[in-house]
Amino acid sequence: MKLKTFVIVGWFLAFSALISALFGAMRMTFERLAIRRQEEAAKAVLKPVDKPVPIVSSPVIKPVPLPSDYAVFVLCYHDFQEKPSKWSITPERLEAHIQTLKAWGFSFLTVSEAVKLLKGRWQGNLPKRAVVITVDDGFQSAYSVLFPLLKRYGAKATLFIYTEWVGKSEGSLTWEQLREMAQSGLVEIASHTVTHAYPRNLKRKLTVEKYKRKMEWEFVQSKLELERRLGIKVEGLAYPGGFVDGTLKALAQRAGYKWAAVINPKPMTANFDRYAIPRYGVSAETTVAALKAWVTRQPILLARLKDGAKPTLSNSKTKVRKFKRAYQTRKINWR
Ligand SMILES: [Zn+2]
Repeated sequence: MKLKTFVIVGWFLAFSALISALFGAMRMTFERLAIRRQEEAAKAVLKPVDKPVPIVSSPVIKPVPLPSDYAVFVLCYHDFQEKPSKWSITPERLEAHIQTLKAWGFSFLTVSEAVKLLKGRWQGNLPKRAVVITVDDGFQSAYSVLFPLLKRYGAKATLFIYTEWVGKSEGSLTWEQLREMAQSGLVEIASHTVTHAYPRNLKRKLTVEKYKRKMEWEFVQSKLELERRLGIKVEGLAYPGGFVDGTLKALAQRAGYKWAAVINPKPMTANFDRYAIPRYGVSAETTVAALKAWVTRQPILLARLKDGAKPTLSNSKTKVRKFKRAYQTRKINWR
């Protein structure tokens, strides 16, 4: 009896050992299979592709080549009043200028954009024709008259501000208005010095050293103040009175300006002088016809002749000479 029981227990133990060994073997097989599958999956991921994937470099936009006769016309306005004075035109005349330029297919740029374009750093489509509206001094009408027109016609402008006058009279712009215009993306704010003192007069009165120091202060201080108060980068300057000499050009560059503008009625072309950007001085005489003569590069004085007067060779030549002399000797008192 004892022996029988012993045999049964023995069998039972042997059987259960066999079963557990079998299960163990099966589990190991499954685990191995799973590991192998994982390894094969990993290999499949890393398997090199048959065809190499072509490397696409990021698109490099090449600057647009400029046609050799490409020109940008920079206009210099001051004030827009119903009662026009010498350096002011009516709001209606301003709108007629903008409408006309738009109808002729002109794009409106800021001066900094025109500099970029003519220095071959313009990316995108080259405007067929380009013009720049600049407004000197900081009269209130730049906000009340010009700014709404810029928005209406999708135009841009560069304003030259002399900082001492900002917010100082009813006729001047405020810092708040300047900030709003700067943030609109339609208006570039540039410097017109601190006090608007005429360099030409200072040069006559002061010693060379004092003249330099005074002008350096005017250029540096106005730039700093505009940047600090408006939170912008000021790139450009317009010399008061439109006058320029070698000293002023060097000082403007040293003060950190990238360009500076004068009054000189000719278009800005590829070889322009960065520190003497020419501008056409718009006055009460600048009718739409006169503007057309500028931007179509007709000799300036032909547009100034009275209606019906035929420009003969002699009278146009004399007038051109006279006019040129007036510029050279600065008889014309540009503001
Ligand atoms: Zn001025």
